[in-house]
Amino acid sequence: MAVFSQTHRSESLPARIALTIIRNGNAAMASKTAIARRHGLPALQASLLIHLHNSNGGPCTVGALADAMQLTPPTISDSLKALVRKGCLSRKKSSEDGRVVLFRCTQKGRRLADRLAGWANPIEETVADLKEDQQQSFMGALTHLLRDQVEGGYFPSEAMCASCEHFEPISWDRHRYRCSRRDIPLTPVTLHTDCSGHHPYRNGKG
Ligand code: SF4
Repeated sequence: MAVFSQTHRSESLPARIALTIIRNGNAAMASKTAIARRHGLPALQASLLIHLHNSNGGPCTVGALADAMQLTPPTISDSLKALVRKGCLSRKKSSEDGRVVLFRCTQKGRRLADRLAGWANPIEETVADLKEDQQQSFMGALTHLLRDQVEGGYFPSEAMCASCEHFEPISWDRHRYRCSRRDIPLTPVTLHTDCSGHHPYRNGKG
């Protein structure tokens, strides 16, 4: 049965939860696009700027940024040039390989990225109103969902446990996990959302 057929949607709680998650995602993206526009940036430029700002301050190549955005280098190159023109990014050749160009946020770019990052504040405030055990269950359920998508071939750009090859679910029901790289237990409270040791899960191919 099609998950999103009208009959199934009205009868099935899992189908309604799936639809609600998707609509929340759409609403969040619309909010992000609106805030980006208010600051004079198209959505892709805003996403690139936020990603570079969140990359531990390190410079990024066009290829790495394209991978992170799940786009091709030609698709993002005009946006990167526009951000350089606007003074939000600097670009320079790698000292190790002159053919490689590295992009980094300028001070203006970091300030703008901080303002753009506020798009997620309303979501965080709503979640903060939930009780602690509800937050943990919510995080556990979302992590389970994201991991299933990663195992199905979808790779989010963010360095989260759910998309890491070192992440080992012990019990989805009890929200118990393990990091094989650091050999530590993980719970919904200690799951990482921006980890320097992250290595993308590639269906067991590493
Ligand atoms: S390396 Fe980092 S992202 Fe990967 S499972 Fe361990 S803590 Fe999570």
